Amino acid sequence: MTPDSQTQMQFLYNLRARGVTDARVLEAMEKVDRGQFVQGLFSGRAYEDRPLPISCGQTISQPSIVGLMTQALQVGPRDKVLEVGTGSGYQAAILSHLARRVYTVERHRDLARAARQRIDGLGLVNVTVMIADGSFGLPDQAPFERILLTAAAEDTPANLVAQLREGGIMVLPVGQSDHVQSLIKVQKTADGLEYTELCDVRFVPLVEGIAQDL
Ligand code: SAH
Repeated sequence: MTPDSQTQMQFLYNLRARGVTDARVLEAMEKVDRGQFVQGLFSGRAYEDRPLPISCGQTISQPSIVGLMTQALQVGPRDKVLEVGTGSGYQAAILSHLARRVYTVERHRDLARAARQRIDGLGLVNVTVMIADGSFGLPDQAPFERILLTAAAEDTPANLVAQLREGGIMVLPVGQSDHVQSLIKVQKTADGLEYTELCDVRFVPLVEGIAQDL
């Protein structure tokens, strides 16, 4: 399903109304059809500004939150980006339009496979989907200019900070899983880390280990 032009306009309007104003981010989000990342029962609601269930008990984030996170990440065309929590692959597809290279890691094999298929189907050749516990990052590909977590950590993971290049930015939800979490922007400078709190959010938790799905 592709959205009709009125649905698309409403989708973009909702993003702007929630503070997504960066032209490059809006352009990238216009290019990626969320309808292709939501399946079954909920596909008719893909253009609403709501999180929706995907398989393995996970969720595709609310578009305006995806927009605000992407905007806070300030991705440049030369950046190598790590995303932890591939889920449907929607966020990774958006990042692929903004970055030079995107690595995205997912602990559920089925989600990773489905996301890889969608991303390949869209011809997004600068995205690599990997099955791994993203809390360890990807030491072989580090350092990254940008790191984005789309699952909530209890604290800023030290492994990921270590894999962030100096001058780099990491955006992540922090907090206990069942409570309101804060979206945090961490900037790594020569003098240490600078933290900015962006807004309250609610994400699924960052879970250790690769899922043993049947
Ligand atoms: N960014 C996704 C939404 C992610 S939901 C999208 O655009 O659709 C968060 C995802 O993080 C879930 O799929 C969950 O399985 C994954 N996740 C949680 N802990 C993880 C970990 N330690 N490593 C990798 N993925 C993890």
